[in-house]
Amino acid sequence: MNNPIYLDYAATTPAAPEVAALMAAHLTLDGCFANPASRSHLLGWQAEQAVEKARRQVAALIGADLREIVWTSGATEANNLALIGAARANPDKGRHIITSAIEHKAVLDTCSWLEQQGYRITRLQPDHQGRIQLSQVTEALSDDTLMVSLMLVNNELGSVNPVMEVGELLRDRNTLFHVDAAQAAGKLPIDVKRMQVDLLSLSAHKFYGPKGVGALYVRREPAVHIEALIHGGGHERGMRSGTLPTHQLVGMGLAAELAVSQLQADRDHITLCRDAFLKGLNPAFYHQHADNDDNWPGIINLAFPGIEAETLIMALPELAVSTGSACNSASLDPSYVLTALGLQRELALSSIRFSFGRYLTCEQATQAGQRLNQALERLHATTQG
Ligand SMILES: *Cc1c(COP(=O)(O)O)cnc(C)c1O
Repeated sequence: MNNPIYLDYAATTPAAPEVAALMAAHLTLDGCFANPASRSHLLGWQAEQAVEKARRQVAALIGADLREIVWTSGATEANNLALIGAARANPDKGRHIITSAIEHKAVLDTCSWLEQQGYRITRLQPDHQGRIQLSQVTEALSDDTLMVSLMLVNNELGSVNPVMEVGELLRDRNTLFHVDAAQAAGKLPIDVKRMQVDLLSLSAHKFYGPKGVGALYVRREPAVHIEALIHGGGHERGMRSGTLPTHQLVGMGLAAELAVSQLQADRDHITLCRDAFLKGLNPAFYHQHADNDDNWPGIINLAFPGIEAETLIMALPELAVSTGSACNSASLDPSYVLTALGLQRELALSSIRFSFGRYLTCEQATQAGQRLNQALERLHATTQG
């Protein structure tokens, strides 16, 4: 069989070919392989320069200063470092954290862990469009609110939170603002200064960089304090020790630069792909959750009433899709994101996320929609017959 058509860009993206080539050139003896922390020879300095170039590229992606970028192993670590690191470093700010019920598990599980340590967690419920309203944040705030942590783009719905407004709200308060931008970076324009965020998480593999690398933006003016979770050597100004993985970082850097230069072209292409895909579907077969023009067009979540998502996926080996986020797809429980939207269990279990990206062609998207429609016709015929 041919390779399935990949419609799971929200789970991960393939590395851009330019990125993979650059990474390969930073691994072997004939390449820039040295330890960036080696100060005693030219090869170390060259590696350090490569890392600092990547830092500039990633800073430019979000409008940050390069001294505000802390390399991590991905957005999971960045979220842990933001939440736990800031909690430990700011005991005076209070022990209350506001987040939403539809954050990524890397935020939700970290908040639950903090809850066991005595923090109070408010988990805001999204509206039916998958968004948190500014007024909900306002109402939840109290004098001991240490932090508000909200994602920019939801990874199962594509919905976009009013991050700019929340930043404005928190501007003159003693409350930190963390944004999980893993699903948004390289796709929507991000300016940490305009958004007035204090901490922002990034993951390279969501924007055509390698897996296993990410970054946390840590604001400098006014300075945001976080305590390290990983000790040893004092790398990254003491906030995250460990030998810097040059190949991973240059890969993330180039991916960031490509994403900036192709932001609009990618978005236009992805919108065309989504529309081509949907065009093949009989509207009587599906309902789109949290359907909103302001959503990131690369993620749609569709319910197929009367059809189990697992059955549909089995009937469609030619498509690579998932029912929800990759991290939860091993479980048979309905997606907690869809449940939080108020969906009944059965409809949630009939839902599939389709996500589109740079290397999908419009022909593939069209074909995928048609194949899906044929499978739905077959399944409806058997359930009725
Ligand atoms: C993928 C993702 C993460 C986790 O990122 P990793 O780099 O894979 O650890 C966190 N938050 C969101 C919204 C994501 O989509």
